[in-house]
Amino acid sequence: MNELQALIIAEIDQNGPMPLSRYMSLCLSHPQHGYYMTKEPFGVSGDFTTAPEISQMFGELIGLWIGDLWTRQGKPSGPILAELGPGRGTLMADALRALQKVPDWPDAPVHFVETSPRLRAIQAQAHPGVTWHDTAETLPDDGPLYIVANELFDALPIDQWVRTERGWAEQSVTHADTDLQFTLKDVAEHPNLPSDAAPGDTYERCPIGERLCSQLASQVMKAGGAALIIDYGYTSQAAGDSLQAMKNHSYADPLNDPGEADLTAHVNFGALAGAGRTAGATIYGPATQNLFLGQLGLPLRARALGGTALRDAARLMDTAAMGDLFKVLAIAPPTSPPPAGFAP
Ligand code: SAH
Repeated sequence: MNELQALIIAEIDQNGPMPLSRYMSLCLSHPQHGYYMTKEPFGVSGDFTTAPEISQMFGELIGLWIGDLWTRQGKPSGPILAELGPGRGTLMADALRALQKVPDWPDAPVHFVETSPRLRAIQAQAHPGVTWHDTAETLPDDGPLYIVANELFDALPIDQWVRTERGWAEQSVTHADTDLQFTLKDVAEHPNLPSDAAPGDTYERCPIGERLCSQLASQVMKAGGAALIIDYGYTSQAAGDSLQAMKNHSYADPLNDPGEADLTAHVNFGALAGAGRTAGATIYGPATQNLFLGQLGLPLRARALGGTALRDAARLMDTAAMGDLFKVLAIAPPTSPPPAGFAP
């Protein structure tokens, strides 16, 4: 039993079964034992690979997406770049290189929102001049703000609600001796859930993700710019359990060795879009990554580069895998022209 597991068991003994979101949050972000605090998640030796780590074309196209939108927004002065959960900083490095080719694009300041001190140190090697934030709330608003988040929302803690014969129950974590186990906790209060759910159906909610989306919407409406969210997930609410643990590029049991595997859930893009709209922003998408990258010209760029670029582009756009599973959502002020990549 690892140290985090002992802490989790002690908390369950004190407070009763632990909500799934609390469990996820401890596994990922516990200051000493959390996955992102201690592990090297990326690359061949890590637990998973992300689009910017597959190909530099991904970050380059996102840089050009920002440059194109900024240009069509009238080149407002003092643009600011921000990324949520930048990982190794690869996407931003590629985006910055591409932005240098955008006429009149100035030397824009870069802001990172990152909770892991260990990853901040890695990001600092690639980006010595950036400013870090613990939350998106403190991002500056004194210039149009261009915000990117790739594979951040899937790491935000979710709650699961399961329909039973007796009503809705909350998925919780308990233990038998040293083994962690799932248990259903009957609840009187729950979020708005489909009334036609059948017994056994599971619905997921990510209140932290919805709040973040609503906040990003308020920020770009105030500062100008836009936010771009890319992640794996679904467009409209459906029953299902998408909680997954990844360790060494294969699936693991989410309750085994807490803090040692990456825990994620699919992103409910319909809910994010709703949160952004309620805040007053204009929402584009969700579009599939295949459509988005296709409209941004990835196949043309890959053909020009040739060699492994063709294979990498095919991997990012493959509709049997990343191209369809990954979705892209943009949040813009109602006054903005439409961003590229979302034409019907
Ligand atoms: N965007 C990168 C990394 C994705 S992994 C890429 O595409 O390669 C998720 C990243 O989000 C990591 O950098 C992790 O430390 C960070 N992270 C996780 N939870 C976070 C939170 N609540 N706030 C900010 N960053 C977070």
